[in-house]
Amino acid sequence: MPDPDVFVIGGGPAGLAAAIAARRRGLSVVVADGNTPPIDKPCGEGLMPDSRRAAREIGIELPDAEGFEFRGIRFLGESHSVQADFPNGRGLGLRRPVLHGALIETAVRAGVELRWSTPIVDLNAVRARWIVGADGSTSRVRRWAGLDAHISGSRRYAFRQHFAIGPWTEFMEIHWSEGCQIYVTPISRAEVCVVLISKTPGLHLGEALERFFPVLNVRLRDAAASSKERGAVAGRSRLQAVAKRNVALIGDASGTVDPITGEGLCLTFRQAAVLAEAMVGGDLAAYNRTHPRLAFRSHLMARTMLLLDHNRSTRKFLLGSLAWQPWIFRTLLHVHVL
Ligand SMILES: Cc1cc2nc3c(=O)[nH]c(=O)nc-3n(C[C@H](O)[C@H](O)[C@H](O)COP(=O)(O)OP(=O)(O)OC[C@H]3O[C@@H](n4cnc5c(N)ncnc54)[C@H](O)[C@@H]3O)c2cc1C
Repeated sequence: MPDPDVFVIGGGPAGLAAAIAARRRGLSVVVADGNTPPIDKPCGEGLMPDSRRAAREIGIELPDAEGFEFRGIRFLGESHSVQADFPNGRGLGLRRPVLHGALIETAVRAGVELRWSTPIVDLNAVRARWIVGADGSTSRVRRWAGLDAHISGSRRYAFRQHFAIGPWTEFMEIHWSEGCQIYVTPISRAEVCVVLISKTPGLHLGEALERFFPVLNVRLRDAAASSKERGAVAGRSRLQAVAKRNVALIGDASGTVDPITGEGLCLTFRQAAVLAEAMVGGDLAAYNRTHPRLAFRSHLMARTMLLLDHNRSTRKFLLGSLAWQPWIFRTLLHVHVL
């Protein structure tokens, strides 16, 4: 069998998006993943309107009917709350395995060859014109290709669990408290996805709800958990370079934005389009140049949002100001999901 144009290591959202975008540009593509689908992963499961648009632009049709459309974002602090509608459509809450299934279906229809239960243990064994490392935040491809040099990074810790309770609002909610946040994404008429993010590795969802989020705790207390709690390392990281010779990184392997932005999947879809263009043009330098620009706004927004993480009085002042002048929050949200 001839070598493919593109060999993608990792069949998560980034690997599949890269494969779909490359295949649509006429390249032959193989994807190998050590796991078997559908693959679950702790994630907030919220696709912002710009993420949905970026998916559509590379030919991914999301199964909207299987998720829950939300109209905007609401921030809630100890004493104030503020909310705004998205300016450009609705967001979509979608269970991760459902998203994964839809991406697989699109990839198969596009003619991508998928190899599951196929962990790659040596880059030298892979034969293709281009190799794409889409093997997640602890990427081994990154190390093998000599792309591990970081510009910056910071760690936070996340726990995710689902609850069988109908969404009480059409907004995705972010609850702010002492050094931690919980965000709640409605993902169906009968279920919400709840994610805790904090700087404390051992802080689990149940303890955080009891100690820091009394109002939300009351709401969720009688709801049955519909999945097991799962942990993940979250946070942000930026690499000096994301491509070298014929190897390019995509998705979490190529750096991460703080999950509080809800922009991880959007970035991945946008990276896939730029990477496909670069591979068709025969030069990964363009991808290397454009990649940091794609994430610039998300990093900036994360830093701005995380001002609310500082302490109770700063949070009270900032959320109070936003509640008093809601147009500021509306403008920030509009910039965020452009
Ligand atoms: C707590 C949390 C909440 C988040 N919430 C949101 C949100 O609400 N909205 C949003 O847009 N984004 C969110 N994100 C970000 C989003 O989840 C990630 O950006 C996305 O999962 C990145 O996908 P990926 O394909 O790069 O990585 P992964 O999903 O980790 O996939 C990597 C794949 O590579 C495979 N693999 C690894 N090593 C090998 C190997 N050697 N050989 C073969 N296969 C291999 C693995 O099996 C896996 O399938 C969140 C992230 C976190 C941590």
